Amino acid sequence: MIRVNEHYNKLQASYLFSDIAKRVNEFQAQNPDADVIRLGIGDVTRALAPAVVEGFRKGVDEMAADATFRGYGPEQGYDFLREAIAANDFQARGADIAADEIFVSDGAKCDSGNFQELFAQDIKIAIPDPVYPVYLDTNVMAGRTGAYADGRYQGIVYMDCLKENGFMPALPEEPVDLIYLCFPNNPTGATATKEELKVWVDYARENKALILFDAAYESFIRDESLPRSIYEVEGAREVAVEFRSFSKTAGFTGTRCGFTVVPKDCKVYTEDGSTASLHAMWNRRHTTKFNGVSYPVQKAAEAVYSEAGKVQVKAYIDAYLANAAIVRDTMTELGFDHVGGENSPYIWIDGKGRDSWEFFDLLLNKASVVCTPGGGFGRCGREYIRISAFNSLENVKTAMARVKDALK
Ligand SMILES: *Cc1c(COP(=O)(O)O)cnc(C)c1O
Repeated sequence: MIRVNEHYNKLQASYLFSDIAKRVNEFQAQNPDADVIRLGIGDVTRALAPAVVEGFRKGVDEMAADATFRGYGPEQGYDFLREAIAANDFQARGADIAADEIFVSDGAKCDSGNFQELFAQDIKIAIPDPVYPVYLDTNVMAGRTGAYADGRYQGIVYMDCLKENGFMPALPEEPVDLIYLCFPNNPTGATATKEELKVWVDYARENKALILFDAAYESFIRDESLPRSIYEVEGAREVAVEFRSFSKTAGFTGTRCGFTVVPKDCKVYTEDGSTASLHAMWNRRHTTKFNGVSYPVQKAAEAVYSEAGKVQVKAYIDAYLANAAIVRDTMTELGFDHVGGENSPYIWIDGKGRDSWEFFDLLLNKASVVCTPGGGFGRCGREYIRISAFNSLENVKTAMARVKDALK
């Protein structure tokens, strides 16, 4: 008898984006003339930058001739890309990361979801609330939680991110072994200073814990005092893994490329307390279960670091940040507290006690604007909505003018 992994039964069906789609479709059916503007889902809308397309195309051309054709490449990624990443994203910012500590992949969702399989079953895991759902669900699937009750899985240490703590979780009160952090944050858009990250790095060093740091939105950071990588913090090489992605940085959500940084100094422990190499383990996992990113896609990613690519990608992000500024200004004018949007594409808006689905319905029905109800990201998001800057300037302007009218 073929039996199932019973842990899957614990998963809460994620109704979030299907619920949103259902409500939007119903609204559209009743209001066929309404021009619905979507500021909900976290997907980019702008075309790939010209330099990136050129790199992509060159890669395809090479695949079209026997002399330059490539079959299987190195599972960890081609050296040209790993070296460009190490030099530009890390060494140029004073973070000591070498090319062979970078593992190129098809995206940060897979890596942040898969990484947990390197750890023992009975570790204690700390996860922020609200949160990108992948961290939690992959640990549920792996059997590291109990049942779901009152909006939370038993066995997980939830770290509340609220206005009271500036959306920066406090250190857990009980000892934990694995900590998920994401800055700039999805969904709140909050950022972390070097000093704030240092607290976590020090905690991990003192408690022999490991931090899984998701930096998928680092390219939105414009405040030069903020770290873009956790490796800008002293001591992080021993206790942190970092996930990165070209998805939001350069519009690769449909092209697919990201990478994970696993420093060789990263310490993990065996049952008898001796140290093991996390780098060697992830290398083994990656080479066994993954066969590399398509060559043209890696050429496209390499072009992000070309002189033209850097300029174009920065302008690409600037356009979304300009949208975010319009959303922030509108919310300030309307008197809603909010966070994010300055170094992030997301603005997290306090609904002043309104339930997040109620706020969602209000914006949909009165302004034909789609946002994301914060409750979909965790219990702490129940009275917030997330507005995303991923749309055209014109649409964002129109949407905010309508929201102003609706909420005045
Ligand atoms: C979008 C996003 C990612 C990136 O996912 P990809 O698989 O690389 O497209 C990772 N983490 C967070 C928090 C995200 O919002």
